[in-house]
Amino acid sequence: MEEEATLVIIKPDGLKKSLTGNVLSRLSETKLKIIGSKVIKVNRDLAEKHYSHLKKEPFYPELIKYITGALHGENRVMALIYWGKGAIGKVREIAGTTNPEEAEPVSVRGAYGRILTTGLFENVIHASSSPSEAEREIKLWFDPGEIVMDLYPSRQVDLNLKTRVWQEK
Ligand code: UDP
Ligand code: MG
Repeated sequence: MEEEATLVIIKPDGLKKSLTGNVLSRLSETKLKIIGSKVIKVNRDLAEKHYSHLKKEPFYPELIKYITGALHGENRVMALIYWGKGAIGKVREIAGTTNPEEAEPVSVRGAYGRILTTGLFENVIHASSSPSEAEREIKLWFDPGEIVMDLYPSRQVDLNLKTRVWQEK
């Protein structure tokens, strides 16, 4: 088995239902390494890029509302990168299949997901589905400096950029 990275996102329903601990406990069964993690607000631009391949699907508008938090009044998500042998498959197995009603009852989606009356699968977590998707998604959600490994080639740039620092007391 290849060592690989995979992106996990605990979606707004997961945070709203206080499921982060449960999800992380389940994922720790894999013995994979967490090499990046953060809680962020998902804006429309990030949501549309993340789900760009689903743009033509009938559920796409609801899906964008879901991941940006509009359905839950909760726009935080937790993004994590797991690293190790067979990471993509191991995480997807614990996540369960996309449709929470068909997912193994003991999987995260089987245990905590539901289908909304609109038909949208509210399924608690995202997990990358292939190495190329994992790379695309990780580069979208994380900057190189936020990951404790040199996962993909990066370069140093000199930016004259405004940034926030802590104010002195
Ligand atoms: N989705 C949905 N209905 C579908 C297929 C997908 O509501 O028929 C939602 C669901 O939240 C899913 C997300 O769109 O997690 C992304 O779909 P994808 O096919 O990539 O499934 P995943 O990789 O998340 O299992
Ligand atoms: Mg997918």
